[in-house]
Amino acid sequence: MDAIQHGWFSEIQNELWPGQSFSLKVKTVLHKEKSKFQDILIIDTETYGRCLILDGIIQCTTRDEFSYQEMISFIPLCSHPNPEKVLIVGGGDGGVAREVAKHPKVKEIHQVEIDDRVVDLSKKFLPEMARGFDSPKLKLVIGDGFKYMKDHKDEFDVIITDSSDPIGPAESLFKESYYGLMKTALRVGGIVCSQGGSFWLDPSHVKEVMTGCRVHFPNVSYAVTSIPSYPCGHIGFVVGCLDQKLNLNTPKQLFSSKEIDEMDLKYYSSSIHTASFNLPRWVHKYFYES
Ligand code: SAM
Repeated sequence: MDAIQHGWFSEIQNELWPGQSFSLKVKTVLHKEKSKFQDILIIDTETYGRCLILDGIIQCTTRDEFSYQEMISFIPLCSHPNPEKVLIVGGGDGGVAREVAKHPKVKEIHQVEIDDRVVDLSKKFLPEMARGFDSPKLKLVIGDGFKYMKDHKDEFDVIITDSSDPIGPAESLFKESYYGLMKTALRVGGIVCSQGGSFWLDPSHVKEVMTGCRVHFPNVSYAVTSIPSYPCGHIGFVVGCLDQKLNLNTPKQLFSSKEIDEMDLKYYSSSIHTASFNLPRWVHKYFYES
């Protein structure tokens, strides 16, 4: 079925969100192609700005992307006392690189993205996100994040997995074995943070990912951010660290309001960091007590 009908784009029906589908009114189709890995569609919408869609699923819109990019980056970076060397897996739109590059303690950013077409098209159509690729701190490699991880040991302070959903090329990035590989790629005291799905959509999937993370990390938590263009209006992050005693919900790096403004952070603050780990009672019970 054509994803755009009567001027509306609707996300594909799939097993990730049975019986529901988010739609956006389309102004213009900017680009459409099939890359080696996925269908890529970029549209301009009436109320959410420009939107990147991979395999029929919304990846980001220019209206609300900052809430995801800031939180997936600053939660692990500020939980770590000295995040000098960071790895980003996925993140082909450049938004996470843009945010990570803002952190004053980050010296080196390595990024591995499987699809160079997402990078090139983001540079062309989503320049506000893709400016992350201009950072002098960044080294971009085109390749599979799962395979890349196998070749890197004791290297990174923080690993951020900004992947698409667990169908298609990103499937391996949600597996327990991926958490095992990330553990060996981390330095002592390292932290991982991955796109972790929504507890409204499928709490059992989130719990499965957290359980996979717990096999390798003694300290695992789940934080959420609010973002209207993702299914159910929010998305979570699975955060794991090697230090059992570290309180992930308490930032080690505190920024003043002036510093937050200078970094142009619109969503992240130290208080949002802590609040994002506070879950509704039923979710807390399901993730941590059952
Ligand atoms: N924020 C978005 C979300 O949560 O839906 C994800 C954005 S980003 C565009 C996702 C990127 O992950 C895509 O560019 C995709 O090509 C990349 N990706 C998927 N599987 C990958 C893999 N195995 N290794 C590296 N990158 C991968």
